[in-house]
Amino acid sequence: MSLIVQKFGGTSVANTERIKNVAARVAQYHARGDGVVVVVSAMSGVTDGLIKMAKEIMPLPNEREMDVLLATGEQTTMALTAISLHALGIPAVSLTGAQAGIVTDGVHTKAKIQNITPKKIRELLAQRAVVIVAGFQGQTDDGQVTTLGRGGSDLTAIALAAALKADLCQIYTDVDGVYTADPRIVPQARKLPEISYDEMLELASLGAKVMQSRSVEFAKKFGVVFEVRSSLNDNPGTIVKEETRNMEDVVVRGVSLDKNQAKLTLVAVPDKPGVAARVFKALGDANLNVDMIVQNISHGSDVPVTDFSFTVDKPDLLKAQKVIDGLKADVGFGRVIATENIGKLSIVGVGMKSHTGVAGKMFDTLAREGVNIDMISTSEIKISVVVELAKAESAMKAVHAAFIG
Ligand code: ADP
Ligand code: ASP
Ligand code: MG
Repeated sequence: MSLIVQKFGGTSVANTERIKNVAARVAQYHARGDGVVVVVSAMSGVTDGLIKMAKEIMPLPNEREMDVLLATGEQTTMALTAISLHALGIPAVSLTGAQAGIVTDGVHTKAKIQNITPKKIRELLAQRAVVIVAGFQGQTDDGQVTTLGRGGSDLTAIALAAALKADLCQIYTDVDGVYTADPRIVPQARKLPEISYDEMLELASLGAKVMQSRSVEFAKKFGVVFEVRSSLNDNPGTIVKEETRNMEDVVVRGVSLDKNQAKLTLVAVPDKPGVAARVFKALGDANLNVDMIVQNISHGSDVPVTDFSFTVDKPDLLKAQKVIDGLKADVGFGRVIATENIGKLSIVGVGMKSHTGVAGKMFDTLAREGVNIDMISTSEIKISVVVELAKAESAMKAVHAAFIG
C-alpha cells in the first residue's frame, strides 16, 4: 500500500462532470489499497471572479478580507469532490487548510507555510477514508485565514507530500506535462519526460504557470519528486527531480514568457549612496516582489542623476506606485513612468553552465525578428529579456525555433 498525494487544478474540477471524473480516478487508487490525499483547486475562473468582485468595490481591498474571500473557492470544490466519492460508495472527508493542520505566517494573499501537523489527515487515512484538502489556503497561529499566492494549490500538494512522506505526488492539470514552452502559444513545443528542480523553478518563476514557483522551491528543499500529468488521459507526464548528469547535454530545456509583469521607471534619481537601498527597502517592507532591476550610468554634471527601472508583478503595480509616490519628496526623483505593456521572455537550461554563445544566439534571433530588447538579466542557467508585449509571443516562437526546433 502506498500513500499518494494527488492535486487537481482548476480546469480538472471546472464543473461537476469533471469532478466526477476526478472521483473516478481517485477511486481506482483507493481500490488498489492506496492511501489517497486529494488536493483541489477552485473551479477554473472562480478565483479570478472573486478578485474581480472585490475590485469592483474598491481597487485595493483589504488583504485579510481577500483571503477570507478567496479561500471559499477551494472549499466549494473540496465538498463537491467528497460528495462525488460518496456517490461511488467511497468514504471521503474534506478538510479546509486549517483543519488539515497547515499553519502559515500572516502575510495575507502570499503567506508562507510555517509547519504542517497532519494529525487529522493521518487519522482519516487510518480509517481508509480518502482525504480531500482545500488547496491554496492555511491559517496563522491565531486562526486567521490565509492564502498561499496564485497557483498555491501546487504548494499545498507538495508540502503535504513532504509532511506525510508520501510515496508519490501527482499534479494533475490540463496539459500532458511540462513542455519546452507553453503549448498554447508554441504549437511545436514538446513534452519533456523529465526536468530538474532548478530548471522547473526558473521556468515557473519566469512565467510558465504550469507549476507555482514556490511549490517547486519547496519540492527541491525537501526532495519531493513529483509528476505533472493530465487529468484528461492516462499518458505519462513529466517527472520533476534533482538534476542528473546527462541533463547538462541539453543547452536550452525550455522557453517561457511572463506577461504578468509591469515596469516602473524612476526618472532623474539622485546618484548617491543609499538611494536604491531606500527605494527597495520600502518596496520590500510592503511585501512587494521586485524582479529585474536596471540602473543606467548617471548623467548631468552638477548633481548627477540616473534613471532606474524595475519590474513588479502586474497585480502589485498600484501598490508599488503608491509606495514610490510616498518616497518622492524624501528621495527627490523626477517623474515615474509605469507601463504594463511588457513581456519577459526567458530561456532556461542547466546546459548553459557548460555551453557558450547562448546569449549571442538569443539576441541575434530577436534582432532578426525586429524585436527591441528593453532589459536583460542572466543567471547561470537562464537568460531573460524584457520586450514589448505586442511582439512577445512571436519573439517566443522564434527563440523556441532557434534553440529547440
Ligand atoms: P491548473 O489549473 O491545473 O493548476 P494552470 O492553468 O495553472 O493549471 O497550468 C497549466 C497551464 O500552464 C497549461 O494549460 C499551459 O497553457 C500553461 N503552461 C505554460 N507554460 C507551460 C509549459 N512549459 N508546459 C506546460 N504547460 C505550460
Ligand atoms: N485557486 C487558486 C488560483 O487560482 C489556487 C490554484 O488554483 O492553485 O490561483
Ligand atoms: Mg496552477
